[in-house]
Amino acid sequence: MARLAVENVSVSFGGIHALRDVSFDLESGAIVGLIGPNGAGKSTLLNCISGITRPTGGRVRLDGVVLSTLPPATVAGRGIGRVFQHPELVVELSVRENLMIACHRSLGYGLISELLKLPNVWAAERAAARRVDEVLDRLGLSESADLTIRNLPYGHRKLVDLGRALLMDIRFLLLDEPIAGLNESEVAKLRDLLLRVRRELGLGILVVEHNMPFVSGLCDRLVVLDLGHLIANGPPAKVLRDPKVMASYLGEDA
Ligand code: ADP
Ligand code: MG
Repeated sequence: MARLAVENVSVSFGGIHALRDVSFDLESGAIVGLIGPNGAGKSTLLNCISGITRPTGGRVRLDGVVLSTLPPATVAGRGIGRVFQHPELVVELSVRENLMIACHRSLGYGLISELLKLPNVWAAERAAARRVDEVLDRLGLSESADLTIRNLPYGHRKLVDLGRALLMDIRFLLLDEPIAGLNESEVAKLRDLLLRVRRELGLGILVVEHNMPFVSGLCDRLVVLDLGHLIANGPPAKVLRDPKVMASYLGEDA
């Protein structure tokens, strides 16, 4: 059981206060939705947790250990995975090759030892190939394994990006607007997949998403930001009836 704690986090960009004194917890096995109008600070908060943005106040801890002074690669190495709004995949390579790259990153083997094909790399290579096959199966992408990313529908690319995160031995998964650009059946598939990785791997998941039916159907808890302030934190049914939350969405297409 691991715990990610956002403690009194503030971020300002020059005169803009993107986050002000934000605190909440994310435990393994929990799915938390991070919602709020445009400009509320949601992406900034994900950036703070993944080490891309340094908080100007407060800190992020994983099981008591401060993460928010570490560089992004180190944070990722501690098991915090991130799925970006636009998948960052090598479009010329196949699905399988993109996933193998993720494995190598997590194993920490440099390109040089890979090229030299040292014996320890052969064993690692076979182990990586097995893990990639497992993830392909989990994602329902076994049939598309040898397609190049360029020839893959957008929704499937997002699944590959999620697969990359899963291969990095993560404990927490952060997703920024994962269903943007997906069709209805892809959305359903992603939802099932998130529920499955929570159940099977015990991941804690933090998902930024505008689509209310999606978040309220998926999440155990919603955290609401408005102009950098945390204005609500609780079960979806309760949070969505909160007058402060309803007011912050007035005029928004929620
Ligand atoms: P959200 O994801 O909720 O739409 P963001 O976290 O992207 O909101 O942005 C919160 C606020 O911080 C906005 O006012 C935005 O313009 C500002 N902001 C975000 N990133 C930067 C940056 N790198 N430099 C300056 N201002 C930024
Ligand atoms: Mg955003």
